[in-house]
Amino acid sequence: MVREKENIAEKPVIHDTLAGAQFERENTGLSAQNPEQPRHRGRPPKNRVPEEPVKETSRKTPAPSPSLPDEEEEIHPKFTHPASDRDVRQSVGQNKIKKFPRSQLHYERDPEAASVRIIPLGGLEEIGKNMTIIEYGDEAIMIDCGQAFPNDDELFGVDVVIPDMTYIDQIKDKLRGVVITHGHEDHIGCLPFLLKDYAVPVFGTKLTIGLVNGKMREHGIPERARLFGVVAPGDVVSFGQISVEFIASNHSIPDAVALAIYTPAGVIIHTGDFKIDMSPIIGPMIDLPRIAELGKAGVLLLLSDSTNSERPGYTASERTVGQSFDGLFERAEKKRIIIATFASNIHRVQQIVDKAEAFGRKVAVSGRSMINTFSIATELGYLKIPDGLLVDIEELNNYLPEQLVLITTGSQGEPMSALSRMAFSDHRKVEVDSGDFIIISATPIPGNERMVTKIVNRLLKLGAEVIYERMYDVHVSGHACQEEQKMIISLAKPAYFMPVHGEYKHLKKHAETAETVGIARKNILLGENGAIIEAGKNGISVVGSVPAGRVYVDGLGVGDVGSVVLRDRRLLSQDGILTVAAVIDIMNPRLVVGPEITSRGFVFVKESEQLLETLRAEAVRIIEELAKRDVNDINIYRNEIKEALSKRIYFSMKRSPIVVPIIMAMSI
Ligand SMILES: [Zn+2]
Ligand SMILES: [Zn+2]
Repeated sequence: MVREKENIAEKPVIHDTLAGAQFERENTGLSAQNPEQPRHRGRPPKNRVPEEPVKETSRKTPAPSPSLPDEEEEIHPKFTHPASDRDVRQSVGQNKIKKFPRSQLHYERDPEAASVRIIPLGGLEEIGKNMTIIEYGDEAIMIDCGQAFPNDDELFGVDVVIPDMTYIDQIKDKLRGVVITHGHEDHIGCLPFLLKDYAVPVFGTKLTIGLVNGKMREHGIPERARLFGVVAPGDVVSFGQISVEFIASNHSIPDAVALAIYTPAGVIIHTGDFKIDMSPIIGPMIDLPRIAELGKAGVLLLLSDSTNSERPGYTASERTVGQSFDGLFERAEKKRIIIATFASNIHRVQQIVDKAEAFGRKVAVSGRSMINTFSIATELGYLKIPDGLLVDIEELNNYLPEQLVLITTGSQGEPMSALSRMAFSDHRKVEVDSGDFIIISATPIPGNERMVTKIVNRLLKLGAEVIYERMYDVHVSGHACQEEQKMIISLAKPAYFMPVHGEYKHLKKHAETAETVGIARKNILLGENGAIIEAGKNGISVVGSVPAGRVYVDGLGVGDVGSVVLRDRRLLSQDGILTVAAVIDIMNPRLVVGPEITSRGFVFVKESEQLLETLRAEAVRIIEELAKRDVNDINIYRNEIKEALSKRIYFSMKRSPIVVPIIMAMSI
């Protein structure tokens, strides 16, 4: 799968694909063969601001060099250096970033160019914390900046998991910007943690940046540290040698984009999370013609979403869910309808709103993230609410059940969510009973099945009718299935292919799918987080690695929950804690008070008095022995007691509680 250097001569595929990729066809937007916009190689264009120095690298490397039309928007002067007390280590003022329409992009691949580096810091062999670095020469950009949710082993007080950003610190001086594909947490969730340390500009579409801004407010990141650029599909942002074009796409959140990343070594297409929806609810259909144009001109590398790579066929259009809602709204008759879905799925929320209006019902909203997203999406014009349709949750009692639709969070069974509180009769405004018709419009993410089942059971027990999972088509995925994945690969015709956004099994399956549409196995690379991947005229290969892993955030701080703390929390939850308290005269070593042994969550003390007595005797024996040897280092007492008691408990009970020796020294 990794292309070896020595094989190049006999594998002309890259030249077949990329040779002659002068990008000189008309109307593709890839070419600006227009006499007013002369091609410039290494010299600054005429109308460039004079104080901008010509970099050494730009003399040597001809591409990409966007021309500078009148429409061009210089982004950097708007950014000011954040005068934050925090350790803001990079000034954006040094960046020369420009935004312009793609029709003005002049791009030419340099056949002699060095390879481009692709460094995934998250998102491979996992679903979550997507983050990829694209590096060329003295420039780097970041694609997506996501978080993951803790898995079963990590749940103990860990709220969020983010990528290891050690490498970001190493390249902080060349990191020009962050480009975000869409507003899901696994793509934006790490931004607050990045931006509190580095003042780097972030680019995304309107809704994406709207959601990012909401996140910043939540995390208290000061306004001055927020350097956001709003782009639209068809825009190009040039960071210097690397330029990024935003391409309209479809996903379970509006305003998602795919990216074409132009580097001197070639063009990289990053699909972001995508599906092909020919009848989307909000926004246009994915811009397949654009991907085909790029494919014809020559694509070096395709990075594509693997989430649904095990599923054959096509993902149904979001619109099909609306059709199911029709039938269900009819069936609900005189009942109040409660629908739980992802807050960010604004397509879905819009369809619920539309159905409510059609059936003469009012809409109320419950759940913090639903209320937040609702207001951001309405404010930005993505969600259209007819006047007078929305009612406050406080006013529910003013309406009959058949006059209401309640949209809520909690479709994944999240314990603190609105739906969960309704199920456990803990919701202050909503009491569920036999007058309720509840639709869970989502499929549980693997790992959440148990929590969802628990809530469904509770709701059924309260007498409600509950529609969930695959009973009706109340949910469609936001990710492409195999046929859509094939279509993207066939249109992009990349020299190299790298599946992203998936567990290993998803990446593997996606690689197999790529082979069926003609990508040779040797041109497919299965990467892993932290790998330094080089792609260019010499093929594609892994040339090294950087630190990558999971950093835990537990509300108190970033990274101060190490794996040791996590192990302690896990042991505490499973095996409990045992404390040994004693006072020792350290000048004249002897036991003064104790030892006293207490346990919490470890054993029922009554049933194990004998064990506790044995442990006490063991502690006495250790203290007396050390005292006899005149040991006056209190730490030695602590360590010996901890070790001996842990061993003894494990030996007799096969359990490992945390043993905490509270040994105090006194000198009389
Ligand atoms: Zn997504
Ligand atoms: Zn994602």
